[in-house]
Amino acid sequence: MKTLTKADYIEGILSGNTVVLSRAITLLESTRDDHQALARVVLEDLLPFTGKAKRIGITGVPGVGKSTFIEAIGEKLIGEKFKLAILAVDPSSQLSKGSILGDKTRMENLVGNPRVYIRPSAAGEALGGVSRRTRETIMLCEAAGYDYVIVETVGVGQSEVAVHSMVDLFILLMLPGAGDELQGIKRGIMEMADIIAINKAFEDDELKIKAKQAMQEIKNALHYYPQKEFSWLTKVKAVDALSGIQLDDLMVGVLQFFDHQNLKSYFTERRKMQDLYWFEESIKQQLLYKFYKDVKVKKEVSRLRAAILQGKISSFKAADELLNYRY
Ligand code: GDP
Repeated sequence: MKTLTKADYIEGILSGNTVVLSRAITLLESTRDDHQALARVVLEDLLPFTGKAKRIGITGVPGVGKSTFIEAIGEKLIGEKFKLAILAVDPSSQLSKGSILGDKTRMENLVGNPRVYIRPSAAGEALGGVSRRTRETIMLCEAAGYDYVIVETVGVGQSEVAVHSMVDLFILLMLPGAGDELQGIKRGIMEMADIIAINKAFEDDELKIKAKQAMQEIKNALHYYPQKEFSWLTKVKAVDALSGIQLDDLMVGVLQFFDHQNLKSYFTERRKMQDLYWFEESIKQQLLYKFYKDVKVKKEVSRLRAAILQGKISSFKAADELLNYRY
């Protein structure tokens, strides 16, 4: 494979070449220092071309219907001549040895469509790294001309916070008739959602009734949550991604959301807040990374860990010692 120069990457991405885009993302994901350095300058140069897509995060427990849903709304978007990039964040992939988009049979109707770019998550990395790269991948996709970037994440853990901090619209999918605990949905995730969609809500009469009840329960619960930023009232919808029932209604909700965001420049305000969040996150990540990379720190850490386990020192004192140590 020919080595690409910075100019090759930039030209390829700006002309929407998906092979080059994929290679640039691989570069971002590489842990090699020279790859990281090149990725960084490519991203810097592409910065003026980023930021233009609508970024949508989709979350929900495995099996709730995320890929079916993304496929269904994806078809609607490409039907309107939009270009769509779909990314996945899967912090659990290290354990499951597979990424959430790894299964090739998923989103069959979108795979291979020239208006659609699908990128599974990189497996086996710490969450901090995954989220930083996802954010940068979104930017590369924007430079490559995608109008919508959809980020899929499994709704079970911290990854939602990270994804919420990089999208304009956050959609939570839930199942009818299952309590929050059953669905593994943390309260905080419901609070973050801009739209909550009860999926599989029209399969039979029983589910229809359960979906209605679930909608009511969620609406009641939302009353007790703090008011959302930018005066948006979380919408609760019932849909069936497989048959497409009520999906048009959901898409109206999506458009209303973006109209509302644009109304008072909430859209740019939210992004500015996200930029500040990522500024701070990057500092934290880099400080920790640089700190732990140090050979002397590594040695001290292992010495202190052993001392803690042997009951020779308290964890607090050990932390103090480590931080006050003259390296
Ligand atoms: P994910 O794990 O959240 O991505 O869920 P999938 O999209 O893979 O869906 C899990 C299963 O539920 C698949 O067998 C889908 O065909 C099915 N499914 C998804 N959405 C619906 C729906 O709206 N109605 C019904 N009846 N089945 C659905």
